Amino acid sequence: MRKSQVLKILFVTSEVFPLIKTGGLADVSGSLPAALQKHDVDVRILVPGYRSVLSQLDHLETIADIKHLPMIGQASLLTGTLPGTAVPVMALKAPSLYERDGGPYVDTHGYEWHYNGVRFGVLSRVASLIAKSHHPLLDWQPDLVHCNDWQTGLTPAYMKLVDHSKTKSIISLHNMAFQGCFPENLVTNLGLPQSHFVMEGLEYHGQLSFLKAGIFYANAIATVSPKYAQEIQTPAFGFGLEGLLAKRHLEITGILNGIETDVWNPSVDEHLAKRYSIKSLNKKADVKSALQAYLKLDNKPDAPLLGIVSRLTYQKGLDLLLPHLQQLLNAGCQLALLGSGDRTLEKAFYDIAQANPGRAAVTIGYNEPLSHQIMAGVDMFIMPSRFEPCGLNQLYGLAYGTPPVVNATGGLADSVIDTNKHTLSNETANGFVMSECTSEGLLSAIQQGLHYYQNKPRLWRKIQKNGMKLPLGWDESARSYYELYTQVIETTD
Ligand code: ADP
Repeated sequence: MRKSQVLKILFVTSEVFPLIKTGGLADVSGSLPAALQKHDVDVRILVPGYRSVLSQLDHLETIADIKHLPMIGQASLLTGTLPGTAVPVMALKAPSLYERDGGPYVDTHGYEWHYNGVRFGVLSRVASLIAKSHHPLLDWQPDLVHCNDWQTGLTPAYMKLVDHSKTKSIISLHNMAFQGCFPENLVTNLGLPQSHFVMEGLEYHGQLSFLKAGIFYANAIATVSPKYAQEIQTPAFGFGLEGLLAKRHLEITGILNGIETDVWNPSVDEHLAKRYSIKSLNKKADVKSALQAYLKLDNKPDAPLLGIVSRLTYQKGLDLLLPHLQQLLNAGCQLALLGSGDRTLEKAFYDIAQANPGRAAVTIGYNEPLSHQIMAGVDMFIMPSRFEPCGLNQLYGLAYGTPPVVNATGGLADSVIDTNKHTLSNETANGFVMSECTSEGLLSAIQQGLHYYQNKPRLWRKIQKNGMKLPLGWDESARSYYELYTQVIETTD
């Protein structure tokens, strides 16, 4: 591995913590670049200039005006630093695209922005321009562009087909379920060659697929866990792109995400009533008691408290909990849920909370402090995802001494080790893994957890500590990305 040379990486993303976040992609974008800086990587982030981005960036200044952009004409590039870090961020200021009320992908009513194709097509266009050899835009040219998910998927297409760039690209797949498919007319409107709107190119079932474009034209593909790298090559997880992915299997690398240990760490977490560490795990009980009080749950120290922080969608598999939830509450369990998404699921959990005051607390919405308090205050974290490219919440659970109960998929399978005699004796047991992805499978994994929690307190402590001991930070993953970047940069086409 070439260690002497500084690698220049443009990291393109549609969300980055703490500037803007809807899910795990923001967490990764907020922490991987800082971790890469420790490995001699000159990394700069490119993100849309949403209002919350422009208002939070430190030392903001305009560095370039960009002309002749498809559909919108011009935009400007501002630079600043990510709060709390030394990571440079370039924000693409295009008010008509990004400075609107609503979220990064949806309007105030929760509907997808109808012009998302333009919003993220332009972002991808600018990423490619920054990567272009001798482009007068900046006096900085990356060796490689690291794209993330469909929102940045057209970048490798622009680099290959329009700019004929020598710069390499990779695309990280954080979730194959979201592909960014738009009508064919966007191809020419966005300045891409119509001749490449074919199956061996940009086209996917008659539409322009941003994700497919990224997978097709990038020099390499990364997934956020090794298991997901395998899974997406099968029909059950590939969302129609499994064939293309299987063809490119030699160029796919799975690297498990790390977590931001300055933020997600019970010994420094400012959101908690009490801080604790592996050496003072008994203080976790105080956090539980504060959470019970805050959520108006009965103040019962011994009641097994199950926690959920999640998007409430089919992917997350939380509907699997519903058939047995009343039974678990009747048996003395409590529930603390924070999440939002599918209205039917929201209502189903809300109704359970209404019927079980003091035993089930359901908070619909997005609440960063409460997510920390739940992670620390509950006894088990429930995450029965049907598919999970990496998943961060189970990693947070491990770090907080809150054993996760998970389905054996993607990053969950790569990080949670089921508890049994063997894994207890080799000190790897750190959670509970469902033997099948069904309601019964989930119930039985929870019951397994309850068995240790209620009857084997010494072993329970061991399970908690096995998780807390793991090196969950970004260091190892950043090293793997460094190796991947080097390998891709050194490969000749
Ligand atoms: P995904 O990106 O698929 O939603 P991950 O587990 O990778 O799932 O990451 C989810 C991130 O979003 C975590 O940081 C989690 O704490 C956070 N999160 C999800 N829902 C909420 C919510 N309702 N309130 C606060 N944080 C949330």
